[in-house]
Amino acid sequence: MDKKEYVREVIKLLKRRYGKEMHTSLKHRNAWELLVSTILSAQATDASVNKITPRMFKRYRSVKSFAELRPSDLYRYTRSIGLYRSKSKNIVRAAKMITGEFKGRVPESMDLLVRIPGVGRKTANVVLYNAFGKSEGIAIDTHCITVANRLGISRSRNPRIIEEDMMKVVERKDWGDVTHLFIALGRDTCTARKKLCGECVLNRICKSSTVLHSNN
Ligand code: SF4
Repeated sequence: MDKKEYVREVIKLLKRRYGKEMHTSLKHRNAWELLVSTILSAQATDASVNKITPRMFKRYRSVKSFAELRPSDLYRYTRSIGLYRSKSKNIVRAAKMITGEFKGRVPESMDLLVRIPGVGRKTANVVLYNAFGKSEGIAIDTHCITVANRLGISRSRNPRIIEEDMMKVVERKDWGDVTHLFIALGRDTCTARKKLCGECVLNRICKSSTVLHSNN
């Protein structure tokens, strides 16, 4: 099996197992709310972000309303999240930029998204796929790093290099889904602290599997 066939098989098995988990678990009603939630989710869990955003989005309903705030106005909502001061500042700066330069609409391309304060390639990829159904790259989070390393898809720990390694072997139609599939696997079976190979749907083909099969 060459590397592309191997990865195709990995994705097929993961889709069979986690088919329903192929979208972000961040609560949002539109692209702007997803952008805000994704900025907040850096080094924080989706669950912790989902706890605070419904109240915040109920109080401030549009990009324009965020653009009129001072960062400190958001602290009462964001305080429980790590790096809340810089994240609040980026959210307000992002709202001002989107209002001023993009007519109040979140842009739909990587080039424009990464110009927005607080938005790197990972956030841009998440927004492009989950809000607009577009894939210009692959969002790499900590689970993706662990899983991509163990599967032998990339040796690097650098998200940008892992993204490039994955884009070479994952079919483009799967660029959006593969992030969510690796996150699902990384959350319940192939965690950073422990790999539960005995329970893993990939244990027959994974290059780091500890399970011995008669055809290994
Ligand atoms: S077989 Fe083991 S190392 Fe490979 S993906 Fe599954 S849990 Fe991770």
